[in-house]
Amino acid sequence: MKVRIDADLCTACGLCTDDVPDVFTMGDDVAEAISGDVPADLEGAVKDAADSCPSEAIIVE
Ligand code: SF4
Repeated sequence: MKVRIDADLCTACGLCTDDVPDVFTMGDDVAEAISGDVPADLEGAVKDAADSCPSEAIIVE
């Protein structure tokens, strides 16, 4: 499973970076996601973060 962030939608609210810091980090203007595969034990947390993102900017693929 991979995840990415739509930089045009992210408002840098910090929710995902607080909840799953091993996958999401805050860049200069928007959050960033790891580029490789999401570790299996974090897939559930990443899906929850995607559901919780107020801007629907987290895209799970
Ligand atoms: S939760 Fe959504 S809007 Fe907030 S920092 Fe993460 S990707 Fe951006």
